[in-house]
Amino acid sequence: MSTYLDYVFFENMVKALAKDGAEIKKQLTPKQTHILHMAVGISGESGELLDAIKKCCIYQKPLDRVNVIEELGDLEFYMEGLRTGLGITREETIKANINKLGKRYSSGTYSNEQAQARADKEGEE
Ligand SMILES: [Mg+2]
Repeated sequence: MSTYLDYVFFENMVKALAKDGAEIKKQLTPKQTHILHMAVGISGESGELLDAIKKCCIYQKPLDRVNVIEELGDLEFYMEGLRTGLGITREETIKANINKLGKRYSSGTYSNEQAQARADKEGEE
């Protein structure tokens, strides 16, 4: 159980450790601002898509397909903007994903064992 002193300690720790907003603003380049904008957009749109799926799966409402398409389109927008800002092509990301999953699921089908073993991560860290 946290005490008031724990809360005060934590509050002060956050103040001491969080980077100053003015410093962040001063250091950001236009490119960094763009990729931050795109990454924040991906996160926000992911939440909107998740909410649409939640309403279907948890609330048992009919899937709002129009909204799902809208949110997927919004995600595509921000992902394309991020890729372009970083000089990464969609083909590169798809190829890297195919290679990763090809290693992880070398049998060619899903299994819990392969998912847990994560063969594509061997040798990392
Ligand atoms: Mg949206």
